[in-house]
Amino acid sequence: MSSNVSRRQFLAGSAAVAGTTAGVLALGHHPANAAPRDGVVDAIVVGAGLSGLAAAKTLSEGGASVVVLEARDRPGGRVHNIKSPRLGATLDAGAEFIGPTQNHIAALAREYDVRTLRTYNVGDSIFFNDGRAQRMSAAVPLPLVPDIGEAGPALARASADALAGFPVGEPWKHPNARHLDSLTWKQYTDQMVSTQTARDLMQVAMSAPLSVRPDEVSALYFLNYIAASGDENNPGTLIRLLSTDGGAQEKLFEGGAALIPLRMAKALGRRMVYNAPVRTIATSGGIATVTSDAGTFRGRKVIVAMSPAISDQIDYRPGLPASRVGLTRGYHMGAVSKFAALYRRPFWREKGLSGQVYGDGRPIDVTFESYAEDRHILMGFISADAMRRLDRAPAHQIVRECIGNFVDYFGPEARDFIDYGIFKWDLEPWSRGGPVAVSSPGTLTRFGPALRAPVGPIHWAGTETADYWTGYMDGAVRSGKRAAREVLGAL
Ligand SMILES: Cc1cc2nc3c(=O)[nH]c(=O)nc-3n(C[C@H](O)[C@H](O)[C@H](O)COP(=O)(O)OP(=O)(O)OC[C@H]3O[C@@H](n4cnc5c(N)ncnc54)[C@H](O)[C@@H]3O)c2cc1C
Repeated sequence: MSSNVSRRQFLAGSAAVAGTTAGVLALGHHPANAAPRDGVVDAIVVGAGLSGLAAAKTLSEGGASVVVLEARDRPGGRVHNIKSPRLGATLDAGAEFIGPTQNHIAALAREYDVRTLRTYNVGDSIFFNDGRAQRMSAAVPLPLVPDIGEAGPALARASADALAGFPVGEPWKHPNARHLDSLTWKQYTDQMVSTQTARDLMQVAMSAPLSVRPDEVSALYFLNYIAASGDENNPGTLIRLLSTDGGAQEKLFEGGAALIPLRMAKALGRRMVYNAPVRTIATSGGIATVTSDAGTFRGRKVIVAMSPAISDQIDYRPGLPASRVGLTRGYHMGAVSKFAALYRRPFWREKGLSGQVYGDGRPIDVTFESYAEDRHILMGFISADAMRRLDRAPAHQIVRECIGNFVDYFGPEARDFIDYGIFKWDLEPWSRGGPVAVSSPGTLTRFGPALRAPVGPIHWAGTETADYWTGYMDGAVRSGKRAAREVLGAL
């Protein structure tokens, strides 16, 4: 499949579902279901990912008039369904899994009647390193492999550093913040492990959720990520972050996770404006004038609902404070694609395999069994440098390399795939990669508070600004609700 074909197919559907009315809300035109005063809405939300949609929903429920400006012709941002080219199977191109303590996305799924299924987690999983496969019970979360060696105490130490009073969502307040933010994850872990296998394990424990190299990300950032893998009543743990049963990969959504943003956007109706990339936000006299390709809009407040690695594409007038500029420059997106292969039968199950692998990324480093309309799917992540190498590669090369990996992991039957899907997030101008933006050393301790601090009428949402489950759908929803509460409190 060419990813373009599948996107076009999907987009045609989503525009119809969402009832696109680009430009209808431009100056002088008002949506029937909002009540702007003097041509000024209470709040303009920039971005219709889950954070922007959650913000708009909360604002509307709070009685505010709201307009959502979305650059793409679909809602959902990093949550996106595509179709496989031959069979038309629905595949999650972006976010897919949900787990315990992700209460906010779970509540939305219930509200919009999107059902979950348990991720297949039976039999053995595989740790594949240097051409060697180690089987281990799927009940034990990877990367806790039998010959874990030095990596065991190192992972325990990282878990301990992220526990006990960690200032979740405000890592710059950690008593050891300066030191931990002066190190990359590689430097932090190299102090603790010396063998290559232990290094590989420490790397994949971080790159599986972040899709970056260990020398790209601050140790403080990833420790906060671990601490954020919980909720107000359950401290975050590395085990919950990495696990299938009892962890972030426990369940997936029937029909694809994108059903949630599609249904949220549909409920917001004519408040949604698509094909509206915002170019400028100008503030004067306490009113923000937001210029997009679909028209100009005026609002008392603006919520910019996207990653800090993307928000710098907008021209702010007057310019933003140095702290916010420093923050956005210190963040960049991971590099990621999901490759899915469809099979007639789940041959890996017949071999007692769960379909889950942690490998050394040639190019796929992590796999899961996925699901679509009763079809049998193996899904693998291509991350960081492996992805950057393939960003411009033709589809047939990516398919060849990925299927080669599946053969290594699951056996020669993997060659008999009947369809496939791939979506390159790095090439998406309104995402620039995924799954999440990470900060390089020094960013959080110098500029961290600028992550959420409003600038005049501008408030910031996006999963990167969340306290718990930052980087996840749950964090996106939390952040949108928090930004909406800030706005409602200030109107
Ligand atoms: C491959 C992949 C796998 C993932 N797996 C999981 C998973 O299993 N579970 C999980 O919980 N999370 C997962 N995630 C992460 C999850 O998708 C994100 O945390 C979440 O969707 C982020 O939502 P958001 O609203 O913060 O940002 P986004 O979804 O990025 O939304 C931002 C929106 O703003 C729009 N935009 C950008 N610039 C402009 C502009 N100038 N003007 C107007 N609009 C603009 C974008 O088009 C986009 O719609 C995954 C992500 C990826 C990419």
